[in-house]
Amino acid sequence: MRIPYKSLTFWIFVGLFAGIICGRAFGESIVPLAEPLSDVFLRLLRMAIMPLIVTSITAAVISVGERRDLGLLGARTLGYYVTTSLLAILTGLTLVNVFRPGVGSAIELEQQVSEVPATQQSFGEILIEIIPENPFAAVAAGDVLPVIFFSILFGYFVTRLEEPYRSKLGDLFQAAFEAMMKLTRFVVWSAPLGVFGINAVIVATTGFEAFRTLGFYFVVVLIGLFIHAFVTLPLLLYFVTRINPVKHYKGMPPPLVTAFSTCSSIVTLPLTMEAVTDNSKVPEKISSFVLPIGATVNMDGTALYECVATIFIAQIYGIGLSLGEQLLVVLTALLASIGAASVPMAGLVMMSIILTAVGLPLEGVAIILAVDRILDMFRTAVNVLSDSCGSVIVARLGGEGVLGEVGPGDYALDRPPA
Ligand code: ASP
Repeated sequence: MRIPYKSLTFWIFVGLFAGIICGRAFGESIVPLAEPLSDVFLRLLRMAIMPLIVTSITAAVISVGERRDLGLLGARTLGYYVTTSLLAILTGLTLVNVFRPGVGSAIELEQQVSEVPATQQSFGEILIEIIPENPFAAVAAGDVLPVIFFSILFGYFVTRLEEPYRSKLGDLFQAAFEAMMKLTRFVVWSAPLGVFGINAVIVATTGFEAFRTLGFYFVVVLIGLFIHAFVTLPLLLYFVTRINPVKHYKGMPPPLVTAFSTCSSIVTLPLTMEAVTDNSKVPEKISSFVLPIGATVNMDGTALYECVATIFIAQIYGIGLSLGEQLLVVLTALLASIGAASVPMAGLVMMSIILTAVGLPLEGVAIILAVDRILDMFRTAVNVLSDSCGSVIVARLGGEGVLGEVGPGDYALDRPPA
């Protein structure tokens, strides 16, 4: 068998399995070696995120805005995001009502409410804070949504400029974006070591006792995520674009394993960008608009989990939810997934908003806390997968598609038939 030395996917899987095996075999003694590797990787990714978002969104808006297609691109992107999040929530809703994992379970509260992560913000406040008071402070603080908001506006007004300013700024941002992509392609090669480090630390330091009591709930969320990732999204991809989903999925392991390990869609963004443009050949002007927005607002996995978790908590407390209340859960789960930050356990933090909205006890969050980190790994991978499918679908809908100029690539979607 030939070993694919040159494939990032191969090395990422080596990192993942070596991390799990070493974490199990050496226990906590692996941490001093594994932690620096994980830190270096995460710092490299975080270093790339803000410049990548600013240059990619601005360059994309300038290039699309010149052709006056910006509104359509925005509408398709948001349309895809809302549709897939709703499909994910409905999958979760069906499963949790069919399997009823919380009914009759003997779960006791172990945590005090004060120890449970919660947010005091309302949806209205989250919306208003999308407008940055100071865009530079937002960049420095890593506040992604305000930065996206400013970059879209700025890019749009560049397209309203007279020549030569318009092309000068357009060229400048395009060049800066190309440079960031080159930097990103370099950074992603640190992923195998980073993935090794992160997983070795997790396996060495995480206890798995919680699965005994929460196992059924855990499995229901996993089945839902699995259906969304391997049935709903591929079907959507196929029926909208007529592309064989396998061709797209084959190029996705590097971002998916990274999302799984880091539990952060935004930290994974550089790898998602690289995979979608290089492996699936989605034109940069589409992927560089769709992906950063997707990493922040499109969280199908989180939405599904929010819905299952809320109804699971209601079942534990023996509270039956009427149809109207279940619809409220669907709506708030959608909003919570849009409002959740793309960082580890953000979905859990948003649970407090949903529980308040439907009048369930806040202590419920404490029940699901124990398995949240592991579920976060799976739901973040689904969040990233959906973003990547979104860029393929939006590209095809715009007629750009993944046709056009193709470089050599194993997973080129648009290779001419043999
Ligand atoms: N960790 C997830 C993400 O970054 C959000 C969540 O906690 O569900 O996509």
